[in-house]
Amino acid sequence: MNQMSPMNSTGKVDVSVNGRHYAWPRVCAIAICLDGCEPAYLDEAIKRGLMPSLVKIMEKGTVRTAHSVIPSFTNPNNMSIATGRPPAVHGICGNYLYERETGKEVMMNDPRFLRAPTIFKGFYDAGARVAVVTAKDKLRALLGHGLQFADGRAVCFSSEKSDKATKAENGIDNASAWLGRPVPEVYSAELSEFVFAAGVKLLKEFKPDVMYLTTTDYVQHKYAPGDAQANAFYEMFDKYLGELDALGAAIVVTADHGMKPKHTADGKPDVVYVQDLLDEWLGKDAARVILPITDPYVVHHGALGSFATAYLPQNADKADIMKRLAAIDGITVVVDNAEACERFELPSDRIGDIVLLSSENKTIGTSEHRHDLAALKEPLRSHGGLTEQAVPFIVNRKLPDLPSAPVLRNFDAFHYAAMAAALAG
Ligand code: ZN
Ligand code: ZN
Repeated sequence: MNQMSPMNSTGKVDVSVNGRHYAWPRVCAIAICLDGCEPAYLDEAIKRGLMPSLVKIMEKGTVRTAHSVIPSFTNPNNMSIATGRPPAVHGICGNYLYERETGKEVMMNDPRFLRAPTIFKGFYDAGARVAVVTAKDKLRALLGHGLQFADGRAVCFSSEKSDKATKAENGIDNASAWLGRPVPEVYSAELSEFVFAAGVKLLKEFKPDVMYLTTTDYVQHKYAPGDAQANAFYEMFDKYLGELDALGAAIVVTADHGMKPKHTADGKPDVVYVQDLLDEWLGKDAARVILPITDPYVVHHGALGSFATAYLPQNADKADIMKRLAAIDGITVVVDNAEACERFELPSDRIGDIVLLSSENKTIGTSEHRHDLAALKEPLRSHGGLTEQAVPFIVNRKLPDLPSAPVLRNFDAFHYAAMAAALAG
């Protein structure tokens, strides 16, 4: 922390965002969010000798485990990494939110739901060059919120819509043509590879001060740690990681959440259908169960995860409902709104009366007939709960004082990336 250097042309030595301070980087500070990277994926790929660059980085750098935010879903964690703060501060606690007033379920992808500026905006406003590449376009608007593209100091685009990128909206025209790669399928490992390839080219040519690379968990939903396809994914990542490291950047590798098998022995999804239960206890549709994992890309998880929130009718006996839910096999946490907000740092107005989490191998559903499980080709793997909270946190510099989980959070990524990037040499 005390080796910060005033490299900024505007003379600033650190950047303050949402009450946290970020050292001014001497080299590019990169955070890489490997979507759904259960630590065992790295262990298995390393065991087979497929990640020589990561091993080198681990030997010369710092290796820790960090905790994700709960719900251990993609958007809440990406926005925590992007803002350095939990959902209570930035407001994004899932893909969906239920508006009691209108009775509508609304997607939370729109930047109007974002309650805090990003670290990228903080650095950009301080005069830095900033680059953000995401696999899926659903995150792009949130991650890029507040960036200005007119002066050529910011780039923010997705692999998914890379061919649609424009200078005015993304800081780059047709990123697909620029990279010389076709737009990948939305359900593919190539969607993530595109992110890494773009990261290397941006580091060489655009020379950002701060860069965020965030992938998709398509591979992780389908394949377990050690599976050939999973190993191939991490072997592919390792090549790009080696290039980024060789170019001198300070890098933090972390994840938005882990990934666990959530199926029975015969390969069927193991689900507690909570809307069906509440319908039985309180009457049809008296309560409303929201699964914030639900999004337009449900093919790989069938909207089944380990986190749910429920809105109860005013006359319901909340304590009794909570007791009955807590007694169900596989439901591990049932808390009311206040306790959920305190324990998981969630925005009170965007979750229901109760919050439920399920165990390592179980998921929570709404009603059985509402989940289209036919699209699931492999036995279900998913996330959302406490059992997917542990994620890797690997820095390619020595940071001896770096804490570990539960103190270290994945959303400390840019704090430590910037600190590492500010170190001399
Ligand atoms: Zn994710
Ligand atoms: Zn996922």
